[in-house]
Amino acid sequence: MNSSSDNTIEIIIIIAFALYSISLYFKYNLPGSAFLKNKLGRHLFRTKLNPVYRPYLEKYFPVLSKLNEDDKLIFESRVQKFINMKTFKTRGEIKVTPEMKALIAGAAIQITMGYPEVYFSHFRTIIIYPDKYFSRLTRKYHQGEVNQLGVIVLSWKSFMEGFSDPRDGVNLGYHEMAHALKLQDIVANNDYSFLDTYTMRAFEKEAMKEMQIMKENPEGASFFREYSATNMNEFFAVAIENFIEKPNEFKKHNSNLYLLLAKILNFDLLEIFPYSS
Ligand SMILES: [Zn+2]
Repeated sequence: MNSSSDNTIEIIIIIAFALYSISLYFKYNLPGSAFLKNKLGRHLFRTKLNPVYRPYLEKYFPVLSKLNEDDKLIFESRVQKFINMKTFKTRGEIKVTPEMKALIAGAAIQITMGYPEVYFSHFRTIIIYPDKYFSRLTRKYHQGEVNQLGVIVLSWKSFMEGFSDPRDGVNLGYHEMAHALKLQDIVANNDYSFLDTYTMRAFEKEAMKEMQIMKENPEGASFFREYSATNMNEFFAVAIENFIEKPNEFKKHNSNLYLLLAKILNFDLLEIFPYSS
């Protein structure tokens, strides 16, 4: 081998090493404002959305039409990342479809808009049943559940019923992801302890009042559906369904509770766009 080709190889290695170092520098050590770090970092290391998922996201997540181009790309990128991180399995006659992946990931990314680094890392497997499924543990039929072992289980029929009306405040996808979010926060993992305990306590205090009113007036029309009075975890999940699908009505009903939840989730569909700070 002659010396000029030796030199070329050396130069290529040096350039490659320099580019790699620069990329690491941007990823982990970019100085300056958090704004620059977040924006630039996310641009450089964005996971590109497989276009097969886009029509489903645009159809079922109205928030996308409200986001600016940059935030929309971040949402899409996070959906792809979520899909890449999880194993989707089905039971019974159905097969995993792009629609399933797009909507399940979309629901997760929608409720974590305020926590761009949270991907429910504790939950690696998603099991999809065609319809309600019988649980041997509870001896009942279930629409969905989130278990401590890191599995999210969903009835696809119930899941799609939730998305058939994006404004009725009932959505199994958001409901189960809300349970997952709370569990994710307490199970030690890559991403946990991000929910603010102080605000959570204040939310629970206010929620108790709502639950009490429901218990005293079981027949009375309450903003939150009756099931939410089951316990605090169910109330939290139902509140998130309404926070996303009926934010105006929720805020009008109990603005204190609404604003506390906005603070917990770190976004508010009525006021601000995520990532803009
Ligand atoms: Zn529940």
